Formats: sequence, structure tokens, C-alpha cells
Amino acid sequence: MKSTMKGPFQIFSSKTKTTLANYRITFFCLLITVVVLRGTTTGITSTPAPMQQLEQLPRQKLALELEEKARELVEEKETEWDPLVPFQLGPKISNWDEQRAVWLHNHPGANMTAAGKPKVLLVTGSQPKQCVNPMGNFQLLKAMKNKVDYCRLHDIEVYYNLAHLDLAMNSFWAKLPLLRKMMLTHPDVEWIWWMDSDALFTDMTYEVPFENFDNYNMILNGRDDDVYNKKSWLGLNAGIFLVRNCQWTLDLIDVWAPMGPKGQVRYGFGKVLAEALSDRPEYESDDQSALVYLLNKDRERWGSKVMLETAVGLHGYWVMLVERYEELMAKGKPGAGGGEYRWPFVTHFVGCKPCGKGGDESYAVDRCLKHMERAFNFADNQILELYGFQHDSLSTEAVHRVRPESSDPLELMDQLKLKPKV
Ligand code: UDP
Ligand code: MN
Repeated sequence: MKSTMKGPFQIFSSKTKTTLANYRITFFCLLITVVVLRGTTTGITSTPAPMQQLEQLPRQKLALELEEKARELVEEKETEWDPLVPFQLGPKISNWDEQRAVWLHNHPGANMTAAGKPKVLLVTGSQPKQCVNPMGNFQLLKAMKNKVDYCRLHDIEVYYNLAHLDLAMNSFWAKLPLLRKMMLTHPDVEWIWWMDSDALFTDMTYEVPFENFDNYNMILNGRDDDVYNKKSWLGLNAGIFLVRNCQWTLDLIDVWAPMGPKGQVRYGFGKVLAEALSDRPEYESDDQSALVYLLNKDRERWGSKVMLETAVGLHGYWVMLVERYEELMAKGKPGAGGGEYRWPFVTHFVGCKPCGKGGDESYAVDRCLKHMERAFNFADNQILELYGFQHDSLSTEAVHRVRPESSDPLELMDQLKLKPKV
């Protein structure tokens, strides 16, 4: 790994970057000092009149904001990974399958649900700080409720992460230290299911056929031809996937993660990926491209255990789906039936950044939020049906009753499509 890492680093002058970052920090610190000093001087020399006090508020707010910004810059710089140090997420573990087998021997049945199915843990999460856009926070809450509802119906455990477990692995790379940690601390769990915060379940009844995955350790939505022949970084979607809790997955994470640490390493691998893959621009490395790269680099080791699926629909591209929900409601049905009107299992809002300031121009935040709301309500109707309610339309949180209250509620339960877990 080390020799491949060296090449791209020479392209970037680390000195120039460090000096620039230092200037930025010094400038911010100076600015804060000026703003704060001006504020305190007025405060000390005379007791400010009410009007003056009001005038000081925006200045104090500005000082706080600048202080926060300077702290972020320092943090950002301090958490850049030193490219001379090989990156590792933890001590090397080579006998996880044996360790787990012993644990399971001592805890018989712990890896099965009450219905005798393999235990699954859905792992998701979002940035530790609140969103810049308050609507982003609300959207994250709804997306979490959506996942909790699905998991409750299908006896799947959920973990929502809000912490950066490894400071060098921020943004989309944050999932790798988290998944490793989840595997090692949940030996009872057979499958870990990563799901981006911007993905929603839109078919609440569909069950993933885990029994079809016996020969595989990782399942993602994608196509062999796009990944192995076209070498396209869009040949699979790494926003939602299943991994088996086993040594193979630990080994994959061990070679995958070193392409992600913040700073020169991430930029360096961005260049490697741009050269190796067919249609990828030369920006910093991302986990999805890195996975496509690894599958091509050693198809036998990695590719033979990775199932690229289209039938399950672990990921569905929102742009192709969100305008069709009404038609699907009228002509299709949940549970993977209905042919061309099949309800999408998952709708993933790739490219939408409702939590941040903007996003790619084609995915304006308003458009994203509008359709996230529609996707949420489409799924929520399937839950509310159980309780006798429906949204007035997919665009409103308002609901109405669809059947009168019953004096024989338990009999009614048998007629419902969604039966609560017993
Ligand atoms: N994420 C996280 N912690 C962070 C930032 C991101 O867990 O600090 C997760 C979050 O679940 C998010 C995912 O990483 O959905 C990937 O980002 P995003 O969905 O915005 O990427 P896209 O699907 O648009 O490529
Ligand atoms: Mn996503």
C-alpha cells in the first residue's frame, strides 16, 4: 500500500498548503481580537445606553461566529492525516471468525431473531453538528423515523451515530470506522446494514431475502458490467449496503479505509481513482470510487464475494422515482409485486445536501426537501394505514381518518397488510 501511496503525494506541495492554512488561522485570530477588543473597550469606558447595548449584540454575535470559524480551521488542520504514517482503524485482527465462533458457542441462539432469522443491525447516522438549514434537521428526524418504522416491522436493530469516531475519517468516510466498531462490539449480529441518512424506505413490507446471500459477504445495488467492464465509479452505490460480520469484511475495511484519511492522502488517492476509473473527475477520494477500484484491482479476492444486485433495490435513484409515487399508489402495490409499478424499496436522495448550505445546482435544496417530504409521506402512509389514517396528499403532514374506530380492534388487525410483530 505504501508504494502506491507515494506517487500522488509528490504532486501536492504540503508546505504551500500548511502555510496557507496557517495564514488563514492567523487572519481569523487577528480579526476576532479586533472585534472582541472593540466590544470590550466600549463596555469598560462607560455603561452603554440601551441603544448601544442593542448595537453591540450583532458585534458579539460576529465575534462568536468568527471564533467558531477559527476553531474549525484549527480542528480541520489538526485532524489531517500525516501521509508518512500508515493509516489503520485499529489493531490488526486476523481471527475474527474464530473469536466470533467461540462467542456464539457460549451464547447459543444469540445471532438469531425470535423468528429464527439471522440478526441484522441497521447502522446510519449524520454529522455531529446541527444542520446549517433548520429544515435539514427536521428532514434528518423524519428519515430516522422512517428507518425506525421499517426496522420495527422487520425485527431489525438500529444504531444512529452522531459522532466522528475517527477525526481523519469525516464525511462519507465516517461509515468505515463506525462499521468496524459495530462488527466488533456486536458479535451477535450476522449482517450489518449501512444506510445513508438521505435514503428512505419506500416499501415498508418488502423483506430482504438474506437466504439468497449465502455465498456473499457484501451486497450492493449495482451492475457487473458497469463496475468491471466500464470501470465506472457510478457502477454501484455505496450509500446503502449489507456486509456480513466476518473476517473477510474486516480485511476489506483494512484495505478500503487507508484511501480515506483527510488531507494529502485523500487528495492523493483522488488522483489514483481518477486515473483508474473511466468517468471520474480528479477531486479527493470518495468511498464509492475506492470500492470500485478495489473490486477491479483484485476481483477474485473482493469481487467474488460481492453481490451487485438490481432485483432487491437496496438503492433507488430519487430523480427516477419521486414524480411517480401517485401513479405507483394507483397502479402498483407494496411487497415487490406490480411489475413496472413495483414500489421502490428504497429512495436515495443522492446529491441532495439539505443539511448544508446549498448542494449541486441541479439538486437545489428546495427541490430535494419537497421530494424528501413526498417520499417520507409515501412510506408513512403505509405505517399510518395500520392505525387507520392517511396523509391528505403526499405533500402535506396533515392526515385524515380512513376508517372509523372499531369496538373489535384485534379482529381488524388480521385484515391489515402490515401486521405488527408479535
Ligand atoms: N455521514 C455521517 N457523518 C458525517 C457526514 C455524513 O454519518 O459527518 C453519512 C450520512 O449518513 C450521509 C452519508 O454519510 O448520508 C453520505 O453522504 P451523502 O448522503 O450526503 O452523500 P451522497 O449520497 O449524496 O453521495
Ligand atoms: Mn446519500
